[in-house]
Amino acid sequence: MKVPFLNLKIQYEKIMKEINAEIEDVFKNTAFIGGEKVKVFEENIAEYVGTKYAVGCNSGTDALVLALRACGVLPGDEVITTAFSFFATAEAIAAVGAIPVFIDINESDYNIDVSKISEAITDKTKAILPVHIFGAPCDMDAIMSIAKKHGLRVIEDDAQAIGSMYKGRKAGSLGDVGCFSFYPTKNLGGAGDGGMVTTNDEELATIMRALREHGSGLNGAKALEYLGGAVEDTIVNEKVTDLYNPYKYYNYLIGYNSRLDAIQASVLNIKLKYLDGYNERRRQIAKMYIDNLTKKVVTPVYSENVVSCFHQFVIATDCKYELCDYLNKNEVGCGTFYPVPLHEQKAFNSDNCKNYNIDLPVSQMMSEKTVCLPIFPEMSDDMVEYVIECVNKYFE
Ligand SMILES: *Cc1c(COP(=O)(O)O)cnc(C)c1O
Repeated sequence: MKVPFLNLKIQYEKIMKEINAEIEDVFKNTAFIGGEKVKVFEENIAEYVGTKYAVGCNSGTDALVLALRACGVLPGDEVITTAFSFFATAEAIAAVGAIPVFIDINESDYNIDVSKISEAITDKTKAILPVHIFGAPCDMDAIMSIAKKHGLRVIEDDAQAIGSMYKGRKAGSLGDVGCFSFYPTKNLGGAGDGGMVTTNDEELATIMRALREHGSGLNGAKALEYLGGAVEDTIVNEKVTDLYNPYKYYNYLIGYNSRLDAIQASVLNIKLKYLDGYNERRRQIAKMYIDNLTKKVVTPVYSENVVSCFHQFVIATDCKYELCDYLNKNEVGCGTFYPVPLHEQKAFNSDNCKNYNIDLPVSQMMSEKTVCLPIFPEMSDDMVEYVIECVNKYFE
């Protein structure tokens, strides 16, 4: 039997009719960027996540950049984050000129070790950026209470966690801003790049709306004021006419071109209806793995406070590459996330990263042990059983 690591085709074949009709609609209306489809999708995500605002953007990476900028993170500021994530988490911090401060992880769930956060806080710390890695939410109560005590912002990296819950609340509604990715392989994946930020804070939402569109327009003017700048009275009080609009082509902040397009919003709007079902199937598959895999591999242990959306199913073993090789030979796909912890990435050095190459033993150890097994909603029970059989046979 062949079990690919991921198969997006099966999912699309089931919903292709619905998607084609929506895409045809986009072409009929020729509102390719922004417009009604994006607005509806933003409203649907805000409702799904349980926040007042949701702002679409170009990618999960951009979502993090917009969130950091909106939270007032400036060049030279420090942002505390995990050493065990996809590179974009730390890249976004560096992209705004801030310094990532990497913290080690728990061995049980691969998330940031909250007991090590307080000691890393300095005068320069502006924010904490926890990542709900593989879909399992971090210990958010602990993180929020540390942040409150020190007056820090909390930006969630929810790229892998759409639909995940912490104490009955959705990931993306737990910190100051939630950052989502709709990269095609994510649990809610588009037909291209896409992202979203979620927040309950009107000021943050307005700043992010402004930044995604060159810091322009009325949002830009408001954002400038929120960030402490003064908009000239003459502009604010100028009468808007058809010919003279003081907000159009007036830019108030250096922003980005980071808009969500209507084709992505249409595809994602359709898939959002099925997301809870997709995630439920992922949890069933995870349970089959946990119940039946040999005890010679270590499966993740999650707190009873969390419901994971199982973006990935990760196991730990001392023979990471040998096992992957064996699985591949038996036509089972697998992933090796993440082989290099962030504080050891070549892109970082002592100039752009405070604790480059220090000893973070758990992250280093886990990066040498993790193998991700296939987990996608369309996997049949037979496929899951075959993967289990292959892993268990390897260890016999
Ligand atoms: C995918 C991912 C991102 C980046 O999202 P893009 O949409 O690819 O830019 C950021 N953080 C994590 C944890 C991710 O998995």
